[in-house]
Amino acid sequence: MSELDLKSLDPARTVVVATGNPHKVTEIEAILGPIMSDCRFVALGQLGDYPDPVEDGDTFTANALIKARSALDHTGLAMAVADDSGLCVDALDGAPGIYSARWAGQHGNDGANNQKLMQQMADVPEGQRGAHFHSSVVLVVRDEDGEEVLVGNGDCPGRIGFQPRGNNGFGYDPLFLLDDVPGKTMAELEPQQKNEISHRYRALMDLAAKLGE
Ligand code: IMP
Repeated sequence: MSELDLKSLDPARTVVVATGNPHKVTEIEAILGPIMSDCRFVALGQLGDYPDPVEDGDTFTANALIKARSALDHTGLAMAVADDSGLCVDALDGAPGIYSARWAGQHGNDGANNQKLMQQMADVPEGQRGAHFHSSVVLVVRDEDGEEVLVGNGDCPGRIGFQPRGNNGFGYDPLFLLDDVPGKTMAELEPQQKNEISHRYRALMDLAAKLGE
């Protein structure tokens, strides 16, 4: 059952956010809303139970585009925003990267992913544990002439800890020591504090700047 009736939405003023996560919609609307001021942001999950597309792109941007285009294909709407994020570890040549969610095998198994990260980094010395979170956010706008795509990118720099710390956040947060908040892992930040420095926030700000040009 969908919460919103697609037919009641004005395609010229509706941005579908390709996520089932309402927090992402709030975060995205807070940054893009003031620029796209006459638009309503709705989560794809509010419009129906659509299958997840196969994310087989070889970059974060390619996978974000797959999600945005799939949301437009399913809904027939004209504007979509989607993001794709992950952890890139220097000592692992950028892994897990686009495979972050399913690195240990099962999609979204944070515990197993962190266990694998600790194992792979066990013998890496302090000075070589650099890493960053990356996020790519895309806005796709379709009209009768085709498609316009805007891409925003953001990084959050840090390094990989030896032991997990903190109970907030998700994913690799407990093992990610922030450059911006020395001594703390991402999982030790309050949600609001994380939102102000996260890779997703920075990617959205980058997209907002391009949208405002
Ligand atoms: P998504 O593209 O936002 O769904 O993120 C894909 C995967 O990257 C997640 O399942 C996490 O493993 C990892 N990831 C992305 N963003 C974060 C973050 O803010 N903290 C921790 N892990 C993250």
